[in-house]
Amino acid sequence: MNMDFKRKLTIPMETKEMYPLTGAMAETVEKRIAELKAIFSGRSRKLLLIIGPCSADNEDSVIDYISRLIPVQEKVQEKICIVPRIYTGKPRTTGDGYKGLVHQPDPNGRPDLFKGIIAMREMHMRAVKETGFACADEMLYPENHKYLDDLLAYVAVGARSVEDQQHRLTASGVETPVGLKNPTSGDLSVMMNGILAAQHSHDFIYRGWEAHSLGNPHAHAILRGYVNRQGVTHPNYHYETLVYLWELYQKWELQNPAVIIDCNHANSGKNPFEQPRIVKEVLHSCRYNPDLGRLVKGFMVESYIEDGCQSVGGGCYGKSITDPCLGWEKSERLIYDIAELL
Ligand code: PEP
Ligand code: MN
Repeated sequence: MNMDFKRKLTIPMETKEMYPLTGAMAETVEKRIAELKAIFSGRSRKLLLIIGPCSADNEDSVIDYISRLIPVQEKVQEKICIVPRIYTGKPRTTGDGYKGLVHQPDPNGRPDLFKGIIAMREMHMRAVKETGFACADEMLYPENHKYLDDLLAYVAVGARSVEDQQHRLTASGVETPVGLKNPTSGDLSVMMNGILAAQHSHDFIYRGWEAHSLGNPHAHAILRGYVNRQGVTHPNYHYETLVYLWELYQKWELQNPAVIIDCNHANSGKNPFEQPRIVKEVLHSCRYNPDLGRLVKGFMVESYIEDGCQSVGGGCYGKSITDPCLGWEKSERLIYDIAELL
């Protein structure tokens, strides 16, 4: 093979033994998952807000960011359920660039997958232990999910992965609600096929095991905008698309029709300052059409301590090294604005 097998890595079971959860931490995660299931099954009308940096590049600034959400969550707890983003693996359009904490625990250093596995588990553990938040991550590598499956409240399958069979089958065996994004081309039937696959049970090979999944009844859609054949970005959060998605859900006979609107990426044209406007437009659509009020379960917002982004090694604390984010003050304002509008 044209590959150097450098060293054998610890498997999830060993890693969990080295970094175990306390009973209190497990309870925190369980409670949050139950809250999310209630939202996705329609038993709770709270809005889900998945918010945080595009990539979890630095433990101190990410935990600092999530700690700032604690008092905000307390103030809006009757209306909004906040799930911070700790995204430890980044999909790269061309394969080049920073691939996330799991590859490079130090973004300026060489890839170190051994340290990366521990770094991603430690960061999610610190969030649960120190801030009381169980967080969201993207399942970029399905086989890595087991390193974090006892810590996550929410899992996303990204735009570049949603058509992949292993992602869909693994999603069908995930306990937490899984959001499947529309692909970068915007074809909603690809996403619907993904949701269907994730809601059904399957037999497949997973980490060297013959595995049987039970199906995930809370698998749902995430709209993130798309790029057309000319490479131009287009939004898909407008009223007409939401109505179309509602109609698709009626045809597809899926359980728990639901969508999360990702306000950044191709929906904002990667202009993070558009995110508050997008949230407000969608909330208006939900008020106008009660079907959409039931369909839209929440939002995904890319947010960090500082506005915008910088290149890797830029050195500004709390500023994204991947997609541009909404800074803290604007994000805090947005959360209070959402609570007022609900
Ligand atoms: C992300 O959420 O940062 C991300 C990479 O999303 P997408 O898969 O929509 O590009
Ligand atoms: Mn992003």
